[in-house]
Amino acid sequence: MPKYSREEFPANSIVYEKVCPYCNQDFWANKPRAIYCSDKCRVYANKAKREADMPKVLAGNSLEVEGRKGLEPMLVGAGRDLRLVYYNPYRQKRKQLDPDDTFGKKHLSGEHPRTLEEVVDFHMLRIQEHEYYYKSLKDLYLADFNADKTKLTDRERYFLQEEKSKVDMNIVGIRKRIQHIREKSQDPDYIPW
Ligand SMILES: [Zn+2]
Repeated sequence: MPKYSREEFPANSIVYEKVCPYCNQDFWANKPRAIYCSDKCRVYANKAKREADMPKVLAGNSLEVEGRKGLEPMLVGAGRDLRLVYYNPYRQKRKQLDPDDTFGKKHLSGEHPRTLEEVVDFHMLRIQEHEYYYKSLKDLYLADFNADKTKLTDRERYFLQEEKSKVDMNIVGIRKRIQHIREKSQDPDYIPW
């Protein structure tokens, strides 16, 4: 429990006056190492610290920002809002097939059903798109690594590495999904997706 007054401790005890770095409240502690006024502030402060250290990653493809054809991949933004700007030909191809990101929704609702092979092809295209993103991340990382003097900050390099592992996981997930679709293909009630 936080103690916000000296009177909450016995009069003759040794106590330390502190300021909680999370809530800015003055408090009293019987341990000189006490930092936060309460467990609540300690937990919240550590959580905020972890989140600040992590690059903000948005789900799916929204992270990828479209670059012009022929443009070298580059990082834009700062802190938690880093993004890779690059050109992805497979994204272009997928967008032609699915301009408003409703391919799955329309297929599953029956508004625009697709054959099993069309669904598999769509997922394969998503894998290619991810693989291309992965390659762009890797190319940028290696180009910087091999340069005489690095231009990327630690956070940017960390971002590239984190993104690579995330894309890797996405690719594994889509491959599993394709495998599942193929395994269930004999089931007449199964809608492949
Ligand atoms: Zn506090």
